[in-house]
Amino acid sequence: MNNIPEWNRASEPSAQPVNSKSRDKSAGKSAKRNSPITIGGVTIEPGQRCYVDLPLPPLYTHTSVAMPVHVINGKQPGPVMFVTAAIHGDEINGIEIIRRLLATKALNRLCGTLIAVPVVNVYGFVSQSRYLPDRRDLNRSFPGSEKGSMAARLADTLMSEVVEKCTHGIDLHTAAEGRANLPQIRVDLDAHPELLSLAEAFAPPILLDSATRDGTLRGAAGDLPLLLYEAGEALRFDDLAIRAGLKGILRVMRHLNMLPAGKSGERRSKPWLANNSVWMRAPQSGILRSRIPLGGIVDEGVVLGYISDPFGEAEQAVISDVSGVLIGITKLPLVHEGEALYHVATTSSIKSAAKAVDEFHLEYEQPVIKRLK
Ligand SMILES: [Zn+2]
Repeated sequence: MNNIPEWNRASEPSAQPVNSKSRDKSAGKSAKRNSPITIGGVTIEPGQRCYVDLPLPPLYTHTSVAMPVHVINGKQPGPVMFVTAAIHGDEINGIEIIRRLLATKALNRLCGTLIAVPVVNVYGFVSQSRYLPDRRDLNRSFPGSEKGSMAARLADTLMSEVVEKCTHGIDLHTAAEGRANLPQIRVDLDAHPELLSLAEAFAPPILLDSATRDGTLRGAAGDLPLLLYEAGEALRFDDLAIRAGLKGILRVMRHLNMLPAGKSGERRSKPWLANNSVWMRAPQSGILRSRIPLGGIVDEGVVLGYISDPFGEAEQAVISDVSGVLIGITKLPLVHEGEALYHVATTSSIKSAAKAVDEFHLEYEQPVIKRLK
């Protein structure tokens, strides 16, 4: 545990840890003082913030490994929210989002509890890899188990020590290595229609209504309201994605009354809800020249890019089968036939999609991307 200015240090590991499942999540509404919370055997009283290390399987070098968790327990009661990043170890934008979040002064007036886990997949982060040393994808290993694979054990630690103690969650991701994503929130509105208001409070340019995959944290969270934020690319800091992510989390916290209301008149883009998305794939192997940037609005039949051989011969166009917004793009121009190149969120209303993307870029003072024909 480290001392944090302005807050008290939490007690040493409690002899009688609070049972997480007995923590009354609705108690905050009537009680005036927040409840203590116990994570990793450390009890954090109301008004305290501290780091807790959750032990993980050590390296074979005998080096111990722990998942670092930062807990801020507000004096006043309210929701208990986790923010996780780097479940895929090379997706580092979220780590910077959490660093900026923890430095936010408004957290001194937090109602409820914030549990920030900037590096969930510690092994992947150290080796700059999406995966765990056992080559498993942690985000296909939830909810995990105490006696399962290494990935399952790590998933179980996060579930039992963090997720099960929370009322809300935000999980931060980027595109996989070699690709970039336009900032977007993914929600399964069929299963969780109540997430729409939370996602709109975050206010990304795009809300993608997508089914939950088995083994993901989003799937394991069950009824717990969880937003999945996707923005930027792996192993890179993307300033727009980071600023939009931080602002979105703070807006959600204000929406849940965890933080005092923001300034009135704040510019907020209205997200555009996409019900479907399609990947455009490489029609042949070769070297790709993209024509349309991330966030670009595309019409059906438009040329997204050209693939040719190194001599500029045997050129073939990559054509969009649908109209929509380019929400994901490959950054590596060396492609094989069949490779996913452009991720297009589809729309029947190009106008409203274009407006949402334009408003978002104006909010963050980025140049507006022109619609290309
Ligand atoms: Zn990810």
